[in-house]
Amino acid sequence: MTATLVDRLGRQVRDLRISVTDRCNFRCVYCMPKTVFGRDYPFLQRAELLSFEEIARIARLFVAQGVRKIRLTGGEPLLRRDIERLIGLLAAIPGLELTLTTNGSLLPQRARSLRDAGLQRVTVSLDALDDDVFKRMNDVDFPVAQVLAGIAAAEAAGLTPVKVNTVLKRSVNENQILPLARHFRGSGHVLRFIEYMDVGSSNGWRMEDVVPSGEVVRRIGEVFPLEPIDPNYPGEVAERWRYVDGGGEVGVISSVTQAFCSSCTRIRLSTEGKLYTCLFAQEGHDLRQLLREDRTDEEIAAAIGTLWSARGDRYSEIRTAATAAARKIEMSYIGG
Ligand code: SAM
Ligand code: SF4
Ligand code: SF4
Repeated sequence: MTATLVDRLGRQVRDLRISVTDRCNFRCVYCMPKTVFGRDYPFLQRAELLSFEEIARIARLFVAQGVRKIRLTGGEPLLRRDIERLIGLLAAIPGLELTLTTNGSLLPQRARSLRDAGLQRVTVSLDALDDDVFKRMNDVDFPVAQVLAGIAAAEAAGLTPVKVNTVLKRSVNENQILPLARHFRGSGHVLRFIEYMDVGSSNGWRMEDVVPSGEVVRRIGEVFPLEPIDPNYPGEVAERWRYVDGGGEVGVISSVTQAFCSSCTRIRLSTEGKLYTCLFAQEGHDLRQLLREDRTDEEIAAAIGTLWSARGDRYSEIRTAATAAARKIEMSYIGG
């Protein structure tokens, strides 16, 4: 029997985001700046990671308590060895939507095996079409052509519709808004622009670096007229816009300028088994210890229930300069 959990603000638990690695082959300036994530950075060691069986067990307990969607993330999830085996375990859980967020670098060779394992869709992060700008964002000289090839491979494998996420940083890639919009118009892929957030403590976030979604919609609309459309489901975080001429849709995610905490149904599981009830949490709740102490499913489910019932997070609604400066967990660790 399914009993959906409800938190202190009346929000149900619906989406579980699982980070499967804290490592990445990119060093995006807004996420894993090289100055912090250098050669000596203390990434997690193998024994610290949850095993695939441990992850699948937690996933089943969440589904029994109302979760309907699981997103695999990281770091770069395709760097976790044999991720297809985990996907197979999760795909066997009935009633679940299963997706993955990736930088796309390994999709050309992996899209088919991911699909065969049971993955339904992918979201690909792509911050520029121009090669120089893209390389400035990923900071490892990675060519944009390979990510575009990854998107094509995902489409060919049936991981559709592909969503493409672009984080905008003022003066760094804002000149890519129109080229990206033009490129993905009519492609069947859904492009979404995301406001740069003050996640973690290492990216040096400043409000001046945020390009507000209102400005993005205005800039695209001046060239390709847009009209708003209804959300796909209540609580969808992306605001949807349609090209008036029939060129498909584009979305904006206004995490900073228009907080959506009141409908936030997400919970996050870190690579080492800590649960976070908010992207901006300062502390997680250790499930790995419970798993490795041989606790029963009922005991672990009760711990999850207690945590969600006590949840009152609404960070983006109460963000101030002081909260933005507080020490928080890193995006590459919690997975976005
Ligand atoms: N490596 C994968 C990728 O890049 O898609 C998955 C993990 S990444 C942390 C997940 C998403 O978080 C990406 O779309 C990335 O652009 C976004 N992200 C990272 N840091 C961010 C920030 N400070 N503000 C907004 N989005 C951010
Ligand atoms: Fe890696 Fe994704 Fe972070 Fe970029 S956004 S550094 S690809 S984890
Ligand atoms: Fe959800 Fe926290 Fe983001 Fe608000 S700030 S939408 S509660 S994750």
